[in-house]
Amino acid sequence: MALFGTKKAVLTAATAALALALSACGGSGGDSPKPADNPSFAAGTTMEKLSKAGSIKIGTKFDQPLFGQKGLDGKPVGFDVEIGKALAAKLGIGADKIEWVETVSANREAFIEQGRVDIVVATYTINDKRKEKVAFAGPYYEAGQALLVNKDNDTITKPEDVKGKKVCSVTGSTPATTIVEEYGAVLVPAAKYSDCLEPLRNKQVEAITTDNVILAGFVDKEPDAFKLASDQTFTKEPYGIGLKKDDTEFRNWINDQLEAFEKDGTYKKAWEDTAGKVIKTAPSLPAIDRY
Ligand code: GLU
Repeated sequence: MALFGTKKAVLTAATAALALALSACGGSGGDSPKPADNPSFAAGTTMEKLSKAGSIKIGTKFDQPLFGQKGLDGKPVGFDVEIGKALAAKLGIGADKIEWVETVSANREAFIEQGRVDIVVATYTINDKRKEKVAFAGPYYEAGQALLVNKDNDTITKPEDVKGKKVCSVTGSTPATTIVEEYGAVLVPAAKYSDCLEPLRNKQVEAITTDNVILAGFVDKEPDAFKLASDQTFTKEPYGIGLKKDDTEFRNWINDQLEAFEKDGTYKKAWEDTAGKVIKTAPSLPAIDRY
């Protein structure tokens, strides 16, 4: 028994050390912003409600390196996650009081409409069709559509090259629509981008398409397997923070915070701690669209 106990102790220590090492290389996203002390908000606003409740539900991606990826400790990390944490902090909510909800491309509008999340920060392109159902603060970043191919593929270098070819993308995403409607690809749909990686590796599809920064995260993980077809992008994907359609006060407030993050260095730090480790062109906050 004593021996068993010792072995177990050694194992536990080893597991703990491993977890520590893994969390160190996974990148925690740096220190979380300090929550505001007793911030006050006008009665009846969403800000007041969330601040009083002391918690917030944030929808994000769980499978996208650099922007939103769930770590081994069960917590997501990435640029979107840092933006979410910074907004929560302004409401007086610490990172430990955020409930992270996985939103995939197809369920973001529904999750907002149903109140399953308070906001969505999830590589979420602002567009008019989506604005029929939800509102967007931002943009806080501008990505663009690109193509990911196997490292040995030299035949696809531009979107025109995928005409009639099988391309994997995600249901409910803007790139899935664009690649079919504008470039005549045959869409192989998936629920999440990470589900496209094996079909590409096995050559069941010839390319994966979505935003350049999402694809850059996959190349960073497997540089020997995949590459971007080109450095060029062929759409504009301005990322917004999704919220309930009619909540103009909350939308204005989030927009004010984004502008404040640009001024006080929060935006820069959020980038440098996450996507900036791989993507060398640091963004500045795009002009906020206060529609
Ligand atoms: N930004 C695009 C979109 O919102 C693609 C990325 C994604 O699916 O999250 O549809």
